[in-house]
Amino acid sequence: MQFYESTPATGHPQLSPTASNNSNNSPKNHVIRHNLPTPPPSHSASPAPLDRQKCVYESLPNLYHGSTESQLAKQIKLLESHKDFAEENPFFVADISSVYKQHIRWKNELPRIEPFFAVKCNPDPYVIRLLAALGLGFDCASQAEINTILSLPTSCPATEDPSNNIIFANPCKAASMVKFARRNQVKMMTFDNTDELHKIAKLYPSAQLVIRILTDDSKSVCRFGIKFGAPLDAVPHLLKTAKDLSLNVIGVSFHVGSGCYDPQSYVDAIQRSKKTFEVGESLGYKFNLLDVGGGFGHDNFELLARSLGPAVDEYFPAETGVRVIAEPGRFYVHDAFSLATNIIAKRGSADDIDEDMDDQSPKVMYYQNDGVYGAFNCVMFDHAEPKARPLTVQSQLVLEDVQLNERKVDSEEISCSIWGPTCDSLDCVMKSHKLAKGLQVGDWLRWDEMGAYTICAASTFNGFSRADVHYTSGADSMEAQEVRRILQQTAPDLQGLIMYP
Ligand SMILES: *Cc1c(COP(=O)(O)O)cnc(C)c1O
Repeated sequence: MQFYESTPATGHPQLSPTASNNSNNSPKNHVIRHNLPTPPPSHSASPAPLDRQKCVYESLPNLYHGSTESQLAKQIKLLESHKDFAEENPFFVADISSVYKQHIRWKNELPRIEPFFAVKCNPDPYVIRLLAALGLGFDCASQAEINTILSLPTSCPATEDPSNNIIFANPCKAASMVKFARRNQVKMMTFDNTDELHKIAKLYPSAQLVIRILTDDSKSVCRFGIKFGAPLDAVPHLLKTAKDLSLNVIGVSFHVGSGCYDPQSYVDAIQRSKKTFEVGESLGYKFNLLDVGGGFGHDNFELLARSLGPAVDEYFPAETGVRVIAEPGRFYVHDAFSLATNIIAKRGSADDIDEDMDDQSPKVMYYQNDGVYGAFNCVMFDHAEPKARPLTVQSQLVLEDVQLNERKVDSEEISCSIWGPTCDSLDCVMKSHKLAKGLQVGDWLRWDEMGAYTICAASTFNGFSRADVHYTSGADSMEAQEVRRILQQTAPDLQGLIMYP
């Protein structure tokens, strides 16, 4: 993590390893300063449990105004003007209004289904804060993730009433975390095996349990079924065990796998959920919660939602009073983050290439300052295939023609491969790609759609720091204005932090 202490002029004095990194630490391991306005009296009247008095945000980075393009360009100019200082660190630009736009899409298509954002996908402080302010619930899988939500320095449904707005959606939980959930009134939690039931019966008998069933995940990029989910034929025994232990099972959850591309997966899962509700009923349970999990992509959301929504209404009509929630992760953040990387070295010269050669294998190898041990871990873990385009060619910013959505670059491109900075030969980001011929060491590349399962799993292997994030509330638009209004209203400590441009 790069500190900007010596250059306060950059306007990022507080870009220390805060926020998103903190949420991965044990809450005990970092000192948390609560430099926020005193909470309203209703808060201080009843002593909150210890963990809730902490604030995971020591301070938030500045929130700028303007498009991702303008922020990328501004940042590169800034870095280039500090020639001998960190000019080649990779960095993200996050457009928070993009997260807001996704929420509007959700509300339009699935008004009945309450989204619980899957924190693991991107526990970014601004993302979490905006979503909390919008009233979302949260899907947490660990103590640290729960703490991130409970510690939000703003009143929101998730911190006010965690029992209804946080689901501990990890079917295999450490005992200490079950106890932590009990202490903090996080009641809803998933299970898919009898050992977990015995654990919960001992540690948290009043928990509200949700049975996670196995569904067909074969039409998803990342399959979860191999690790979690009870097959339908195991459901009767599991629910019988829960009943014998006098446990309170309130409903059913599933996850069709992340990056789902077949709407039928949801319909099939809803049918299995219905069967599970019936088994519950035969044992004397009256389930009232259906959790349809995540899996929604950015591009196919409407397609999936238009099968899921009607299936929910058909099998679980609103009149039944069943509460329907979901755990979207990727859908909310995929598009919001763009990454800028710097070409730090190059092997092979474009001039050496005989254009007539049939051999398609790339001759030029670019080495950049972020790779699969950093933000591009998504290549290894998330089956991602990120795409690069030049941000600068021979130190000149490549301007985008917004109208035509075309790049104004010299059209000559050569095939190349793109590698990360570590000494591991596994550290290859793109095996084969075409990029402008003129690219040189020192030039910048841009990678869009880098918001899901990227920063959160990045390491500092081999001594390479994680990319910083620079935030913008978006270019002039109604959504951007709304984002600024919401953030300011619900987080008084943000007053004055919004910077122009
Ligand atoms: C990862 C995960 C999610 C989020 O999935 P997306 O495909 O990103 O929407 C939701 N629920 C559970 C239990 C998960 O493990």
